[in-house]
Amino acid sequence: MIRGLVAILALACTSLHAEESPLWSRQFTWTRDHLPLVTVSISQGRDEITLRGVSAPVRLLSEGPGGPEVNGGTRWRIRLEKPAQPARLRWHIVVASFSSSERTHLDRELQRWRSRDLRPQTFEIGTLFGVSGQVVDDRRLLVTVAPAEDEAAARHQAQALAARFRVHTSLHREIVEPPHGLLVAEDEHFTRVHGDSVLWFAPQEGLLAVEPVDPPSGTGAARGLYSGQIYLTIDALGRLTAVNVVPEDRLLGGLLPSEMGAAAPQEALKAQAVAARTELFAKLGTRHLDAPFRLCSTVHCQVYGGASKEDPRTAAAVTATRGELLARRDGHLVDAVYSASCGGHTEDNDRAWATDPDPALRGVADDHCAKSDWSRRLEGSALAQASHLGALKSFEVLERGVSQRVVRLRLTGTEGTIEAHSELAVRRLLGDLPSALFTFSLERSPDGTLRTLQLTGKGHGHGVGLCQSGAMGMAAEGQGYREILQHYYRGTTIRKLY
Ligand SMILES: [Zn+2]
Ligand SMILES: [Zn+2]
Repeated sequence: MIRGLVAILALACTSLHAEESPLWSRQFTWTRDHLPLVTVSISQGRDEITLRGVSAPVRLLSEGPGGPEVNGGTRWRIRLEKPAQPARLRWHIVVASFSSSERTHLDRELQRWRSRDLRPQTFEIGTLFGVSGQVVDDRRLLVTVAPAEDEAAARHQAQALAARFRVHTSLHREIVEPPHGLLVAEDEHFTRVHGDSVLWFAPQEGLLAVEPVDPPSGTGAARGLYSGQIYLTIDALGRLTAVNVVPEDRLLGGLLPSEMGAAAPQEALKAQAVAARTELFAKLGTRHLDAPFRLCSTVHCQVYGGASKEDPRTAAAVTATRGELLARRDGHLVDAVYSASCGGHTEDNDRAWATDPDPALRGVADDHCAKSDWSRRLEGSALAQASHLGALKSFEVLERGVSQRVVRLRLTGTEGTIEAHSELAVRRLLGDLPSALFTFSLERSPDGTLRTLQLTGKGHGHGVGLCQSGAMGMAAEGQGYREILQHYYRGTTIRKLY
């Protein structure tokens, strides 16, 4: 049984209606000028949220855009009238997953789990874009077994299955019944409006100030400014959530300044815009499947600071590359990762992380990278203590990747040995290094243990995919964004979808 969680992008201008419940749907809606609207949560798990029109009163759209409006004051306080009914959830144990081009393997996998008497089910996640004859297929099929109503039981069972059948398992949450409850909004003139599980707001003009909002790193609370519509609804746990409905160009415009300085050359910003758009679409439909929005605004998805973070030069780069995504020959989206500075050569993706090799993410020489050297002095005793190794006896680089990044490292102490098996693991083991592209020298104590390690390195970040420093160098030399993208993501093409 295939359960549809497919977002099919059709080039049509659909209006949002509360009864169609776009909140929980994978279907995209569009702006009047045919840009996809993305729903980004900006405040989660709250008891009360305040919205304020910065330069004008705020309209309350009680049944969603297009429905009746209440022209309220400039400040609305929204809360739940009484505790809401949380969603009814079911946890499924994911035992395998396939891209849509690997469907031939699916039957065999299903048969395998049937023969184990585990009655497998399949779920489809991800997106299928089909616009003007162009298709980008980014769907995945999850094979799941042993559904449970209780998360702890599911987690326990997932571990047991992983050990018994030697497979990698994870959990997939299914919303069996969405949460529901009554929202109450009140403005400064005591106008009160009730909404069944959702209320929509839009400023008459200008921006909306929202308080509290989720800070990028996750905890605490802050205040933010947003353009466009905001809906208040109930999350799976029955708490209040504010969601900003953002046209894709505004969302990317708000993301880019924090990714690459707005002062970067225009062709570099355009390359970054295409990479960021591709990453954005790859995330849509695969995350927050059990939430009334598609993306969150924290580091988990992509840090979104709202309207106050926009810049005219990055906005121009987004507009100039409108609708362009980076695709592979088989139609799947490229995992368009990027880092600040590769230090002269980018790295293979499978050496940076414990993932399968990706032909689009092979390490390439980068002659345009700006010099970004660093040095770090590590105390042997501190390193050994953090790793619980006793006194440190040896520091061995076992393997370097194609860019000369250290991808396998062994530390040996009087109490044991520890190995790191990826670029990321190496950097973490050595106390969050700027990169794993380093040389080193050792200094020993009279008793032979390691006293200090002097590291000299280049580059910042994982070094996989586009190098922002090199992209800026290529652009400064007159190369276009297409050449930049093709340099860092080999064998890929740019597809314009809208
Ligand atoms: Zn997220
Ligand atoms: Zn570089």
